[in-house]
Amino acid sequence: MVRTDQTIVLDFGPRTLMNLIKSGVDRHQITHILFSHFHADHFSDFITFFFDAVIYTKYEGGHRPDLTLIGPKGTLRLLRAIMKTFPSFASPPFGVTLKEVSTKAFTIGETRIFPTPVDHVHDLSCVGYRIEHRGKAIAYSGDSQYCKDLVGLCANADLAVLDCSFPANRPGPAHLHAGQCGQVAQEAGAGLLVLSHFYPIADRYDVKAQAAEKYGGRIRKGKDLLTITL
Ligand SMILES: [Zn+2]
Ligand SMILES: [Zn+2]
Repeated sequence: MVRTDQTIVLDFGPRTLMNLIKSGVDRHQITHILFSHFHADHFSDFITFFFDAVIYTKYEGGHRPDLTLIGPKGTLRLLRAIMKTFPSFASPPFGVTLKEVSTKAFTIGETRIFPTPVDHVHDLSCVGYRIEHRGKAIAYSGDSQYCKDLVGLCANADLAVLDCSFPANRPGPAHLHAGQCGQVAQEAGAGLLVLSHFYPIADRYDVKAQAAEKYGGRIRKGKDLLTITL
């Protein structure tokens, strides 16, 4: 979740709804969700989030602002299918807008958002997002392999949150390993690197030290409810 003049959620994987509740943020004020891609670990909890929003507004007398759901090519097809699958999702008492993005920047309030397609798997579009507000920039890789567009997305960002699925000594397909996370942050000149999206094997090695072999800046290992103020 990124808070600027807006409250924006980046992806909606397992545990996100419970973490939003634990964080004390009013989930019913979230107006924009940016999806990187539609592997289950990036959107599965959106279904419970949306169900919760419908219950809140339809049956508990609650009010929520309209919701805009943004993602890469394939977003309309998948989210429309979800809306059709669950009868209670059909006509929520708040507006829902679906939007597909590729490379075109857009603005929400005073927040500027730059999506960039990144290389993940060949059969699914994936975008990373760069969010800028009042001279600060954060970059979020989504799921990505090493690619020049990812380095560009992170260029001089104050914070880069990168997919660190694998340790450097046990690399795997479709994702960065810890050494590549360090490499991307170094080449981009990022101010702070947060490693995220750990497969179980990544947790068995010191991925922070591995990233530090390639990157001279500050590194933090991501965890649920980690909060960073820029
Ligand atoms: Zn993925
Ligand atoms: Zn993933």
